[in-house]
Amino acid sequence: MVTRARLESFGHEVTHAIDGKTAIDCFQKERFDLILMDIEMPGMNGFETTTRIRALEGNEPWAWTPIIFVTATDTDTNLITAIEAGGDDFISKTVPEGVLQAKMKAMSRIASLRTRLALANGKLQDQANRDGLTGLFNRRAMDQQVDTHWERACNNGGSFGLLMIDVDNFKKYNDHYGHQSGDECLRAVAACLENTVNEANASKMAPGSFAARYGGEEFAVVIPDAAQGIHARIAEQLVQGVALLGIPHEKNAQYGVVTISVGAVCATQASGSVAQHFRLADSLLYKAKEGGRNRYESL
Ligand code: GH3
Ligand code: MG
Ligand code: MG
Repeated sequence: MVTRARLESFGHEVTHAIDGKTAIDCFQKERFDLILMDIEMPGMNGFETTTRIRALEGNEPWAWTPIIFVTATDTDTNLITAIEAGGDDFISKTVPEGVLQAKMKAMSRIASLRTRLALANGKLQDQANRDGLTGLFNRRAMDQQVDTHWERACNNGGSFGLLMIDVDNFKKYNDHYGHQSGDECLRAVAACLENTVNEANASKMAPGSFAARYGGEEFAVVIPDAAQGIHARIAEQLVQGVALLGIPHEKNAQYGVVTISVGAVCATQASGSVAQHFRLADSLLYKAKEGGRNRYESL
């Protein structure tokens, strides 16, 4: 019998489950580096318990907790069934202490590899969703989130705000200050958009909203579950916020600093498709440009 005391003497922190059902309950509350599973248990046996644990892990692509079966009857059939059920190794209850310790070490290595893999995967996924220059969500990530929010809005009769944002006379900025400065300017504008959106999130004015780089010197802000008029209020804050950065832009008409124009819509299923709302926001943006820039237009 592998006792708790024996495992603890190896330096492991041990949680003991008296049967399969308790083991599954523990697993749902907490993640473990390693599971030692008795095959012969009252009620649900070790094979069935393992199959259920693997099914629970199936929802998380990077989850794999090593499972070692422990049994009194060390038969080939038991070994095959154990592996088929999703086990990783198999030991007898009478296994010498040194062997048990070595197997635990090997399985702990798998556990730490799994953790590193999950972390690396998380980082990669985050990088794939971010724009390299500004760190905002990229177009791809934005499109995905828009689809999700749109579907939710359609299902519950809600709405979401969509803001299209464009830096004014940015070609002239590049021509006058150089492309490098242009990049720095885009970073500063992006940070300003993100701060404004984060504040709107924190103040519960627009929870869940986010900014993205749409492409070039164009950005977008999405506001899920936008309450009445919120999209226009945020558009106003963005326009003011960027102008207040005071980034010199001699060639930006009468303003003398970098400014943005914004087209803002509140989208509902009744008012059209996602694509139609993007086009509408774009045409409002164009109207803001026509109106003299450094302003927003909303519907
Ligand atoms: P408008 O006020 O009508 O928007 O005028 P604009 O000059 O901003 O618009 P236009 O579309 O003519 O020019 C956009 C410029 O943005 C041209 C392009 O070189 C520049 N741009 C796009 N992406 C980047 C980037 O990543 N870095 C830099 N530095 N410039 C960029
Ligand atoms: Mg543009
Ligand atoms: Mg522009």
